Amino acid sequence: MINKGKVAIIGSGFVGSTTAYTMMIDGVVSEMVVVDLNKNKAEGDVLDMNHGMSFVSPVKIYAGEYSDIKDSDIVIITAGVAQKEGETRTALLKRNIKVFDAIIDSMLPYLDEHALVLVVTNPVDILTYYTIKKSGLPAHRVIGSGTVLDTSRLKFLLSEHTGIDSRNVHTYVLGEHGDTEVPAFSLTTIAGMSVDAYCQSCGECETHTNMDEIAEKVKNAAYEIIEKKGATYYAVALAVDRIVDSILRNENSILTVSSLVKDKYGISDVCLSLPTIVNRRGIEKQLVVPLSAEEEDALRRSAESLKGQIREVM
Ligand code: NAD
Repeated sequence: MINKGKVAIIGSGFVGSTTAYTMMIDGVVSEMVVVDLNKNKAEGDVLDMNHGMSFVSPVKIYAGEYSDIKDSDIVIITAGVAQKEGETRTALLKRNIKVFDAIIDSMLPYLDEHALVLVVTNPVDILTYYTIKKSGLPAHRVIGSGTVLDTSRLKFLLSEHTGIDSRNVHTYVLGEHGDTEVPAFSLTTIAGMSVDAYCQSCGECETHTNMDEIAEKVKNAAYEIIEKKGATYYAVALAVDRIVDSILRNENSILTVSSLVKDKYGISDVCLSLPTIVNRRGIEKQLVVPLSAEEEDALRRSAESLKGQIREVM
């Protein structure tokens, strides 16, 4: 029988520890093991969370070794090395691939046959692809957090612009989690209307919706936060928690996770984000949604850019 609701987190840095804390509050898991090279950091985070256990539903949280990931439904990888001053993106990627070599080798002997791997470390699309190739796991069991965060950022900015609840803004950011990402504005709706149509019907302000400006803000959001405080972690933790919910509750939710693409929009053999049905199997199905010709072109360019990065390191 599959043990429901156990999650392992590899890497207890800003993102890993905030994700653990978010899942603890959300109550979606019954057991959580945190593994980090820096054992003190993992142990400190676990103590800190456990001291708040009287305020939430019971969750077993402990710092552990790779052998403790046994019986996990999902292994979430947030471990990585930070960019050194003057280091190129490719050099950083090569170092993170070494980190992934070590993690995948250590994790595989303890991975249950139905367990899923959720990659969060950046560049997330490349490392999701690398994890599939290196581990030999079926592609549906390896998921990247992709543009789930970017989609939420876009919803927030459109919500701020229109004054409407983010949850009633329907949109997707597709492609790479990064510079070539593609906001699917042709599919963006509020109450079944395009944003322009909604704004006209609302008529409360003169503000023209500059979608390009909003798209730029989404793309540069991480740079802006990192410049101000060094790292981003709250929103990504909520995004990961949402993906975990969808998996453990077998929700069939449509999320813009990153996964291995085959024959979609003329794109194959690369991981990127499409609207994707996510459930207990992991990736159930990637949806081919009706995009504008410009958006389809941008998606193919995003795929090419990712393939270029893959060629530089693999
Ligand atoms: P961080 O430096 O705070 O944490 C990284 C942690 O990984 C450290 O605690 C380190 O000890 C640990 N680690 C390194 N090598 C390890 C190994 N071999 N085994 C176990 N642990 C190891 O970094 P962070 O701010 O938490 O960011 C982590 C990653 O998440 C980065 O790559 C960042 O870019 C990425 N990120 C992704 C998204 C997204 O949307 N996908 C959003 C924000 C951040």
